[in-house]
Amino acid sequence: MKHRVLAQACLALAVLLGLAGNAGAADKIKTVASFSILGDMVREVGGDRVEVVTLVGPDGDAHVFTPTPADAKMLASADVFFVNGLGFEGWLDRLTEASGFKGRLVTASDGVKPIVMEEGHHHHGEEHADHADHAKTHNDDDEEEDEEEENEIPDPHAWQNLKNGKIYVANIRDALIAADPDGKSVYEANATKYLDAIAEEDAAVRTALSALPEARRKIITSHDAFGYFGKAYGLEIVAPEGVSTESEASAQDVAKIIRQIKEERIPAVFLENITDRRLLDQIARETGAKIGGTLYSDALSKADGPAPTYLDMFRYNVGVLTSALSS
Ligand SMILES: [Zn+2]
Repeated sequence: MKHRVLAQACLALAVLLGLAGNAGAADKIKTVASFSILGDMVREVGGDRVEVVTLVGPDGDAHVFTPTPADAKMLASADVFFVNGLGFEGWLDRLTEASGFKGRLVTASDGVKPIVMEEGHHHHGEEHADHADHAKTHNDDDEEEDEEEENEIPDPHAWQNLKNGKIYVANIRDALIAADPDGKSVYEANATKYLDAIAEEDAAVRTALSALPEARRKIITSHDAFGYFGKAYGLEIVAPEGVSTESEASAQDVAKIIRQIKEERIPAVFLENITDRRLLDQIARETGAKIGGTLYSDALSKADGPAPTYLDMFRYNVGVLTSALSS
């Protein structure tokens, strides 16, 4: 519920910004991005030729977003609609249908190799040792468990690996060129510069995190948003909530994580800018793990905050992680 109120507040802001942005922008390519991180990327590649409206704004939670009629109206006149894909925007079909959107729908994550999970499981990548544990909790419901085996869902948070971010940027560049061929050289130049900056940041993240002691490379976050980050940069991430904030953590999930933190002496838990802090406060209290700070997962900060751009988000998150986990 709280998520929804927040989403709606962000939405109101996004609509206001959208209306303000319309003035005097008649000759620009009109684009809509589903969430703030993607909006920043489109701005970098599009530069002055493109007007960008973001549906889910800073600190907003796209998982639980509820589009309004005003969003539909705004989308109806857009040339290009950029979305993350991988199931991130569960509200996408409803919105595009309601709006009668006739422009290009571009899935920025196209070409990314997704991390896939079985539905109901919270962990990333490789088969996990606690698979058996989890199955036990569903013992009296064997049929449903069998169905879940076949029901694999992708982890949508692919942007948390900068190498995937480069795929997003290439897709954005190609889509803008297709929508506005006259701007080809501008989009190519902007994208090349941006791709270089992303590659540079990728190397910086790797260097900073590789300096962490092996035993301290395990962290707790509230929802499972850092699977790609952990896999790319060598951190193990444990989260009581799944890859969407839509489903709340069960009492068993929380109890299991509290046990795990104690047994494995996990040093720190991290808040997220888009989620409620109470669950993590409780976990920290019951385990003695410290709160390592706030990580930006699914949304940027406002312009005057610490993570107003995609690259700032990595710099800030890595700063928070290294200072909490160094020793
Ligand atoms: Zn998320």
